[in-house]
Amino acid sequence: MNFTRRLFTFYSIQDYHTALQEGTASCEEAVLSYLSAIDRQKHLNAYTAVYDKEALEKARELDRQRKAGKPMGRLHGVVIGIKDVIAYKDHPLTAASHILQNYISLYNATVVDKMLAEEAILIGHLNCDEFAMGSTNENSAYGKVLNALDNDRVPGGSSGGSAVAVQANLCMLSLGSDTGGSVRQPADFCGILGLKPTYGRVSRYGLIAYASSFDQVGIFGRTVRDVALLLEVIAGEDDYDSTLKQQAPPVWREAPSRKYRIAYFKQALDHPGLDPEIRETILQRTAEWRQAGHTVEAIDFDLLDYIVPAYYVLTTAEASSNLARYDGVRYGYRTADKQLELTEFYKRTRSEGFGREVKRRILLGTFVLSAGYYDAYYTKAQQVRQLLVERTNLIFKDFDIIILPTAPTTAWRIGEKMDDPISMYLADIYTVYANLTGIPGISLPLFGHTNGMPFGVQAMTSRFNELSLLQFSHQMMQQ
Ligand code: GLN
Repeated sequence: MNFTRRLFTFYSIQDYHTALQEGTASCEEAVLSYLSAIDRQKHLNAYTAVYDKEALEKARELDRQRKAGKPMGRLHGVVIGIKDVIAYKDHPLTAASHILQNYISLYNATVVDKMLAEEAILIGHLNCDEFAMGSTNENSAYGKVLNALDNDRVPGGSSGGSAVAVQANLCMLSLGSDTGGSVRQPADFCGILGLKPTYGRVSRYGLIAYASSFDQVGIFGRTVRDVALLLEVIAGEDDYDSTLKQQAPPVWREAPSRKYRIAYFKQALDHPGLDPEIRETILQRTAEWRQAGHTVEAIDFDLLDYIVPAYYVLTTAEASSNLARYDGVRYGYRTADKQLELTEFYKRTRSEGFGREVKRRILLGTFVLSAGYYDAYYTKAQQVRQLLVERTNLIFKDFDIIILPTAPTTAWRIGEKMDDPISMYLADIYTVYANLTGIPGISLPLFGHTNGMPFGVQAMTSRFNELSLLQFSHQMMQQ
C-alpha cells in the first residue's frame, strides 16, 4: 500500500476518544497515519509484520459503528502493536526465530482476545530478540531494531520493536513480554513507560514460553493512565493459565497526592557498574522526594550479587525444557536434508533453526539440569529465589515502594555488547529482581543523560499492588 503523510497526533486514549466523539478525528485517519509512519520509518525495523489492510478495514468498521450510535469499547480504535511472541489467530508468529519460519497461529492469546473484545486495532507484530532472549534486539532472525533517538544505538531488548514502535509513534501502545526486564529496560533505553505486572496478573496463554515461572506480558505507553487502562483490559480471568489471579485489578483512579515510604538498595546505587551520572541523578531526585515529605531510605541488600546468576540458571533451565518442542516435526522450520534418521534430523533442524544465543541458553540450561550438577546449580538457585522472596516480603512490611535504576547505563551502541554475553547478562542486575520475586515493576522515563539519551528509574511494589504502583508513578511523573 502507498500512504501519503497524514497529520494525526496521539496524546492519550482519553483525548483520542474525545476527538472521535467530537468528530475531529477518526479511527481510519489514525490507522492511515500510523501506516504512513511505519512506511517512512522502515529502517528502524520495529515490525516483523504489518497488518495494513485489515487494520484499515477494522478502523472503517469502527467509525461506522460509532457514528451509528454503538457505545465505544474501552480500547475503541486504539492502535496497538504486539511483540512477535504473542499469538494472533491466522497471523504469523515467529518469536524472531528461523525455527518458526512460516508458522501461523492457530488461536489467539488471551490478551489478544481481551483487546479485540474492547475494539482495539492490532496493527502488526513487533520485532524482538529471538525467543525473547537478549537485551539489545540484536539477536533477531529478522535483523536488529534501531533506537529512534540515535540510530547508532540499540533500543534495548528483548522487546526492542515494541519499545521503538511507541517511541517513534508507530502505534499508540504496545505489548511486550518481560522475563527479566524485557519491557522495563527497552522502555528505559527509549524514554517511554514500561510496566511489568505481577507474575500471575496477566494470562500467559498464547505467549510463547521462554521461562514459564518468570514470563509476564508487559505494556509500553506514554502515560500512566493509558498503561493502567490497557492493564485493566488484559489482566485477570482466564481458564487457560493456572498461575493466574482471576480477579481483575482494581480500576485506575487518580489518588490525591500522598507521602510514600520509599526504599532503595544501598548496594545497587553503589555498584561499580552503574553509570555515575545515573547514580547522581537518581540520588538527587530521592533527595527532592525527601524534601517533599516522602520517606526515602537506603537499605542494606547483601543478596544483590546473587540475583543475576540465579536468574540465568533458572531461566536457562526452564528455556531448555520449553524449547524442546521445536523439533522440526510439529511446526516451523525443518532441515532440507530428507535422508536423515530421526535423531540426526532433530539435531540438524535445531542447529540450523535456532540462533547462537538461543543455543547457548539451551546448552546452559541442559547443563544445570543434568544429574551431576542439578543440586549445585538449579537447587541452589531455587534457594536464592526463595531467600529473595522472603527478604522482599520483609521490606514491604516497612515500605510502599522500592526504587532502583532500570539499567546501569543508557542505550549501548550497536554491536557494543554482542561479543561479551556475560557483560550483557550482568547489565540485567536491576530488572531480574522483580521477576525472581514476582513483584510488579515499572520504568519511569524521568531523566535525560548528558550523552543525549534518556533514562528512567524503576519503581516496584508488593505483589498485586499495581494500582498503588501506578498511582505512585503518576504522582512522580507530574512533578
Ligand atoms: N535480558 C534478559 C534476558 O536476556 C531479559 C529477557 C526478557 O525479559 N525476556 O534474559
